[in-house]
Amino acid sequence: MAMQTDVDLAILGGGAAGYSAAIYAARANLSTVVFEQAMPGGQITTTDIIENYPGITSISGAELGMRFQEHAEATGAETRYVSVEAVSHNEDGSFNLSYDAGTKLTAKALIVASGAVPRPVGFKGEDTYKGRGVSYCATCDGMFYKDKQVFVIGGGNAACEEGLFLTNFASHVCMVIRRNDFRAPQGVVNRVLAHEKISVKYETSIVELSGDALPSTITFRNNATGTCYNEEFKPGSFGIFVFAGTDPVTCLVTDFVDLGRDGGIQTDESMATKTPGLFAAGDVRSKRLRQVITAASDGAIAATSAYEYIKAL
Ligand SMILES: Cc1cc2nc3c(=O)[nH]c(=O)nc-3n(C[C@H](O)[C@H](O)[C@H](O)COP(=O)(O)OP(=O)(O)OC[C@H]3O[C@@H](n4cnc5c(N)ncnc54)[C@H](O)[C@@H]3O)c2cc1C
Repeated sequence: MAMQTDVDLAILGGGAAGYSAAIYAARANLSTVVFEQAMPGGQITTTDIIENYPGITSISGAELGMRFQEHAEATGAETRYVSVEAVSHNEDGSFNLSYDAGTKLTAKALIVASGAVPRPVGFKGEDTYKGRGVSYCATCDGMFYKDKQVFVIGGGNAACEEGLFLTNFASHVCMVIRRNDFRAPQGVVNRVLAHEKISVKYETSIVELSGDALPSTITFRNNATGTCYNEEFKPGSFGIFVFAGTDPVTCLVTDFVDLGRDGGIQTDESMATKTPGLFAAGDVRSKRLRQVITAASDGAIAATSAYEYIKAL
């Protein structure tokens, strides 16, 4: 018996991945619903300017997010502005998405595009100065620190790679490492240590960032001695990049997928997970580069795979 559902395809998350998937799915004539709990556009709405999406020299994150949503809805996809509270998998292979304390939608296939959230380190002022001196993405924001000093928090591979990348812009890069050594492969550590623009503060944490509209004081703690000290700067003359990892938002589907070492959902090249009909796209996947363009690419592939899956039912 044919599967009876409310829609063909449900998409969990209205970011770059979710809306890209929606555009491909709706254009393939699948009835498609996108669930979005916050601003359409996802993480990019938290950044002022996107300057690395092909064909668009410069655009605000909020504007790009709105364009994704308008484009998807113009092709026939629907957005429901709710938070999905639970996902279940029925015996016939369809999926239930529950929201608004009991409302359910059933779909033949599901694309999980719920994104990832940068992991904060938790110093005082971190949230206040997010986007105004505190960043979680060197690829995105590095060029705004041209000829300025930057501090990179973290001693892992990402922190080292991003610290090296930031030397392309910054006048100086100071790596701030909690312990007395890096936790990265020796090859990349050697490149960091040999770089003329990079210095390292070992056994050090940032405990506070303060100032007025823009930050001007960093309070460091020497973890070996417990001593705290301040460094003062001209407001806006420096930045702090935090690379404490990202947390993919997988909580609703952990029973149906395998997770990679970075906590992201493992998929094959067609964005399929281990559960038939369940696909993942964007930052929620286990992947190397978390950017708008890779999220959009994943979404297009996932929707194409979902279409093939549904047609074969
Ligand atoms: C500050 C910052 C600046 C950045 N700048 C750039 C840049 O300049 N260029 C670039 O290419 N990339 C940039 N990035 C990275 C880029 O934003 C991400 O790679 C991209 O947005 C990932 O898209 P996504 O659709 O996979 O996930 P997201 O954008 O995270 O979207 C996921 C969506 O799912 C929704 N969601 C999650 N759970 C639920 C639920 N239960 N119910 C309903 N909705 C749910 C969320 O609300 C969110 O809107 C930046 C990231 C940050 C944090």
